[in-house]
Amino acid sequence: MSDVVRIGAPPDAPDSAEIDLPAAEAAARTLLEALGADLEGESLRETPRRVAAALAEMLTPRPFEATTFPNDEGYDELVIARSIPFHSLCEHHVLPFVGVAHVGYLPGERIIGLSKLARVVEMYARRLQVQERMTVQIANWLEETLAPRGVGVVLEAEHLCMSLRGVKKPGTRTVTSALLGTVRDDVRTREEFLDLTRHG
Ligand code: ZN
Repeated sequence: MSDVVRIGAPPDAPDSAEIDLPAAEAAARTLLEALGADLEGESLRETPRRVAAALAEMLTPRPFEATTFPNDEGYDELVIARSIPFHSLCEHHVLPFVGVAHVGYLPGERIIGLSKLARVVEMYARRLQVQERMTVQIANWLEETLAPRGVGVVLEAEHLCMSLRGVKKPGTRTVTSALLGTVRDDVRTREEFLDLTRHG
């Protein structure tokens, strides 16, 4: 018997206001003009619309159904989806941060399709974010949805606001982790999880 959790706008989205594309386009026009862009030329004429559409797309996760199943076989080892690619927008600069997520859990009564782990990452990535919060949100979602015995989430990402401006350190990857339950408390399980996230 499967349980289906329908995911649209996540319940804990920081603000659930609808995206107003025409207003975003007008604002993008104002911003670009203030930055000195001449939007009269043919190649820039549509740029405000494209900027608004691109940002809206990056802030809109695709809806999905998080179907869970009973763990009938009693599988009791770690389940890990490694190197799930994601991109998000840092809420301080509205610049992308791009990287991979390693998401794992130690099943209890229920399991979830592996592809859904990637969709959960996307759900929390496609909004204005900070990496630390995103890491915890993914872990908490798994805990609440599956009631597993443990959860581990590691995110590694390069932040363009660090690479291209400010301290200007290209290639620096920020690593964050959230460990819950047995993955946090049991040394052997924690080491196993962290080891599996380090080596492919
Ligand atoms: Zn930033």
